[in-house]
Amino acid sequence: MAKKQFKSESKRLLDLMINSIYTHKEIFLREIISNASDAIDKLCFISLTDDKVGLDRGDFKIVLKPDKESRTLTITDNGIGMNKDDLENNLGTIASSGSLKFKQSMEEKQDDIDIIGQFGVGFYSAFMVAKKITVNTKKYGEDTAYCWQSSGADGYTISEIEKENAGTEIILEIKDNTDDENYDEFLEQYRIQGLVKKYSDYIRYPIVMDMTKS
Ligand code: ADP
Ligand code: MG
Repeated sequence: MAKKQFKSESKRLLDLMINSIYTHKEIFLREIISNASDAIDKLCFISLTDDKVGLDRGDFKIVLKPDKESRTLTITDNGIGMNKDDLENNLGTIASSGSLKFKQSMEEKQDDIDIIGQFGVGFYSAFMVAKKITVNTKKYGEDTAYCWQSSGADGYTISEIEKENAGTEIILEIKDNTDDENYDEFLEQYRIQGLVKKYSDYIRYPIVMDMTKS
């Protein structure tokens, strides 16, 4: 499958994210959850006037699933989803102005500003903790679902997949621990629960995680 290149601005931001020594790596979860919430907002709004959505306000949710065996953290939403163009345009480029500011401040080495905490730095921040990201998604009202995959700055692939319902599943393949950096913590239920409380308390949809298995 042919690999597509990120736009050059995005590539530089990705490089920064991947090699980030930033201490607040944990904010990636806030970013992924906020995107999920935005996507749900959109479908929730449509559902007010479109019975075909088949979901009520109370049916919308964000599901977190850490799996130590596969070293993955999966974030699922039943929001609007993305089609192929959306994937190209949204995940292939720097979308948020926050990420642009972040990139500039990193490049100017303005380490005094806690820019990453102030602004949304967006989807790419997941590359601070993930060595590979898979996005399985289907846009509401469309027939074809897609899988977007990237292991970082060398590009991404998009392929067709089977997926029944509209929405998005983001699978983060968590990096291996190094001598200096701990990533295992992002597979721990209690750590994830703590991050949700700390950063995503304001989200208006339920954020759920099965706490029974370990
Ligand atoms: P921002 O949220 O500021 O637009 P991000 O980098 O966080 O920037 O996200 C980029 C874009 O990717 C979003 O604007 C949205 O269009 C799309 N996106 C990301 N995650 C999802 C998701 N879970 N469902 C639907 N679209 C998404
Ligand atoms: Mg965002």
